[in-house]
Amino acid sequence: PCPDELARAESLISITPDFPQPGILFRDIAPVLSDADALHAVTQALAAPFEHGFDLVAGVEARGFLLAGAVATATGTGLLPIRKAGKVPRPDASVDYALEYGIATIEASGDLTGRRVLLVDDVLATGGTLRAAISLVEQLGGTVAGVAVVLELAELGGRDAVPEAHAVFAA
Ligand code: AMP
Repeated sequence: PCPDELARAESLISITPDFPQPGILFRDIAPVLSDADALHAVTQALAAPFEHGFDLVAGVEARGFLLAGAVATATGTGLLPIRKAGKVPRPDASVDYALEYGIATIEASGDLTGRRVLLVDDVLATGGTLRAAISLVEQLGGTVAGVAVVLELAELGGRDAVPEAHAVFAA
């Protein structure tokens, strides 16, 4: 993707202090999604390092879905929705992971034997969500071909949890 387009896309990410709770500096990619050129540039940048190395794109509900759909369509691959607990009628795999307070569960169904999966998400914070998603894909028999995020929040240490992650932008 063109560096100017990517720089413009990065400038569209909005920052809101104390949302959804005090102390969190929330990064919203919605303005990137609603700008055609920015969405195109970011979609290309997520997939570029892994070109031809995957045949399925997985995203975690809810914002990961949006990016996974865009990347899958742009690269001619399939889409695997990874859902929060209780949404998949017959899950074949389920992974619990730690949140700041309490735990969360993600689930998915299907047999991913022989499938190479690119995992995408909007923000890499602590990395807990992506680590859980990697484990889920492996439980389903798939191979994680890559991990790509729009924005890495470097100070939260997600890089240690997911060292293989490719970040389009870092803050
Ligand atoms: P993580 O701590 O890496 O597991 O992040 C959990 C999820 O919360 C990620 O999928 C992000 O979408 C979201 N998230 C975490 N921190 C932020 C933030 N500061 N701004 C926006 N989204 C965030």
